[in-house]
Amino acid sequence: MTDPVTPAPSDLAFVPFVSVDHMMGLVHHIGIRTVLGDLARAIEADFRRWPAFDKTPRVASHSDVGVIELMPTSDGETYGFKYVNGHPSNTRDGLQTVTAFGLLADVTTGYPKLLSEMTLLTALRTAATSAMAARHLAPKGAGTMAMIGNGAQAEFQCLAFQAVCGVDHVRLYDLDPRATEKCARNLQGSGLRVTPCISAEQAMEGARIVTTCTADKQYATILTDNMIGSGVHINAIGGDCPGKTELARDILLRSDIFVEYPPQTRVEGEIQQLPADHPVTELWQVISGAAPGRRSAGQITLFDSVGFAVEDFAALRYVHDAIQGTEFYTRLDMLADPDDPRDLFGMLQRAAPAG
Ligand code: NAD
Repeated sequence: MTDPVTPAPSDLAFVPFVSVDHMMGLVHHIGIRTVLGDLARAIEADFRRWPAFDKTPRVASHSDVGVIELMPTSDGETYGFKYVNGHPSNTRDGLQTVTAFGLLADVTTGYPKLLSEMTLLTALRTAATSAMAARHLAPKGAGTMAMIGNGAQAEFQCLAFQAVCGVDHVRLYDLDPRATEKCARNLQGSGLRVTPCISAEQAMEGARIVTTCTADKQYATILTDNMIGSGVHINAIGGDCPGKTELARDILLRSDIFVEYPPQTRVEGEIQQLPADHPVTELWQVISGAAPGRRSAGQITLFDSVGFAVEDFAALRYVHDAIQGTEFYTRLDMLADPDDPRDLFGMLQRAAPAG
């Protein structure tokens, strides 16, 4: 079968582009649970070869209301980056808090080989990363998760924990009851038991996994110390920017903390509340077997997630492979590529309107 995505050499100037419509089509074509499981495996495989990646904390441009970030990485063969914003007040104007797009390029030529929407893909990869981390850190047999913050990311998180960790009951809480109603409605027919709650405390009842996924640019206290008993796994997603956290500091002091890339998480994660030398474990070390994950039933584990470039890289490579032989992309005329590489001007000249 011909491969329409990997272009013939003369076609290298045409870049496969995955739009939002394509991404939705692709996810439905494959099935969302399969996508989440595949992404968890793809991300885990790249965490296992962590030292192979060129890593840098993301480049962030902060304002009073939000942040715009670039997230680059490379494995020496392929380069990738994501553009992503975080603007908690956007939802008041009917806009998304987080939007994103990303690109993969061939390191040998520097030519892009994929441009993709990443607003949906970020929600999918964040959920897949959370569930992948929980598989190593959460107590065995934990079937109930408290889901605090029921906005754009929430359903993705619930479905990933169902698909990857076997969670069968989610207890939802959001400051805004309409968000909880929306989340409960969207999860109907998912096979999950869904319990809407009227407080974070109520959501925590019987839950041995808690995901915090709220958006507010402040040092918030979504979870107070008394809410976290022994043997709980905390998947903290929403604190991902300087001055934006979700957990009471005392919880951090009682937890074993796992992070993606310490130089980024020290600035952006929950651990910005702690001294710079507070011990943390890098998740890739747990995945590669170099460090233990959960050691005892009573331990409190915390995945202080901020989102790292390697996760986006893995997700983009997954999409690049998944669109092969499908109609879920278009070819963008994105690179000026004259037949004689030094005759860029001639190409422009020949395109002049006749007359
Ligand atoms: P969203 O704005 O769609 O949803 C956030 C929800 O949190 C809203 O429904 C809001 O009512 C609720 N909320 C705010 N304060 C609350 C509180 N005190 N208690 C309970 N609920 C509260 O945002 P989203 O797209 O779902 O993103 C959520 C957060 O996750 C953002 O902060 C975003 O930056 C972060 N995020 C992190 C990663 C990562 O990799 N770690 C990836 C994507 C998004």
